[in-house]
Amino acid sequence: MKSVISELSVLVTDDSLTQRQYAMDLCQELGVQALFDAANGVDALDVLDTNSVDVVLIDLEMPIMDGVELIRSIAQKKLNSSVIILSAKDPILIASVGTMAEADGLHVLGTFQKPLLPDALECSLLRFIQDTKVAAEPKKSNDTEVTALELSHALANNELTLAFQPKLTVHGLLLRGVEALARWRHPAKGMISPVVFIELAERHGMIDALTHFLLEEAFKHKRTWQQYGLRFHLAFNLSPLSLADSDMVDWLCKMAEKYGIAPAEITFEVTENALLGELASAIRTLARLRLKGFHIAIDDYGTGFANAQQLSRVPATELKIDRSLVHRAAARPQQRTILASTIDLAKNLNLTTVAEGVETAEDFKILYDLGVDLVQGYYFSKPLFADDLLNWVKNDLSQLRRQQEQK
Ligand code: C2E
Ligand code: CA
Ligand code: CA
Repeated sequence: MKSVISELSVLVTDDSLTQRQYAMDLCQELGVQALFDAANGVDALDVLDTNSVDVVLIDLEMPIMDGVELIRSIAQKKLNSSVIILSAKDPILIASVGTMAEADGLHVLGTFQKPLLPDALECSLLRFIQDTKVAAEPKKSNDTEVTALELSHALANNELTLAFQPKLTVHGLLLRGVEALARWRHPAKGMISPVVFIELAERHGMIDALTHFLLEEAFKHKRTWQQYGLRFHLAFNLSPLSLADSDMVDWLCKMAEKYGIAPAEITFEVTENALLGELASAIRTLARLRLKGFHIAIDDYGTGFANAQQLSRVPATELKIDRSLVHRAAARPQQRTILASTIDLAKNLNLTTVAEGVETAEDFKILYDLGVDLVQGYYFSKPLFADDLLNWVKNDLSQLRRQQEQK
């Protein structure tokens, strides 16, 4: 592996000469040839301004400009570097700075308590190589330029559709439900991600029309599955804007009735951050939905800043732990700690825990050990169109269970 690592350029930032030298020696032993060093944030920015650097090792405690400020500046200047964060301080602090850096848009390869171990450094540098390779693959449609006008045509022309991703019990891999995820089959631009068009719809006053269309689609599918005797739950994502719409609850009840669907078999997913805005009206809508018997999931938990108290005020039944906390937790001890305490918190609040973005057997093992209730992710199944979902239930699911039993 030395050969790939040797092509990287690395900047080591640390005010202690001994520590800096130690980290540089480790880099050299791994084969890194382009090595820079800096004793504080200001010097580090100078190096970054004049050299192309792939990876920056950042010590948090430094004079003049500390690591937290340096991270901020790297993000603001949109310097295309990935970072490894180090500190002698406690792991929770280091991990929270890592989360902050990711929220600022930086690519965080690892967060470690000192001393930096050779294996940890090697894994982080290899991750850089792996992740940049992935990023270099043909772009998904996330960057596709689409206009509000095109979206309104799409709605009228039935170009919007749904994919469904299974949610499975950790014990026994039983199919508990599916989450409906919006897709846009653009006749010329291919499949467009909801990350692009949901926001477009929200900005251009089309989110209600879109939600109405997609919800009816989802309910139609659920009715068909029920006719086949399949009674798994359906989860549906609601925009924060829908929570502010006072007519939404009545409309949702009317639709459930129209399609013969029991509210207890529907979960509405709302993101953690939706709860930080108009909290009062959001809670009113959610409380009414709960009273009607629907379930409520707090989505993307761990990406926002809701605290335990705010969480306890939301009439939720389920907590979906974001994939940024789940993925690669095995390799990041601090992340594992946060994951464990999040699961504890959810259990204390009587919430069903769902881990999103489970991609590997290692991810799954940790979640199993930590006692998560449900899992969802590519490791089990990608989101599938309705026909493929039925085939998956018929064929792939039992195979998945057999594989798991053999482990
Ligand atoms: P989300 O609700 O957090 O949905 C999970 C996203 O993670 C989906 O992306 C899913 O395809 C992806 N995913 C699932 N398993 C894995 C995994 O193992 N690894 C990785 N890397 N990703 C995984 P998708 O379908 O692109 O949706 C993105 C977001 O768009 C959703 O995030 C949700 O916030 C929003 N969205 C999707 N459909 C709707 C909708 O009908 N209405 C609204 N308001 N928002 C929607
Ligand atoms: Ca969701
Ligand atoms: Ca999510």
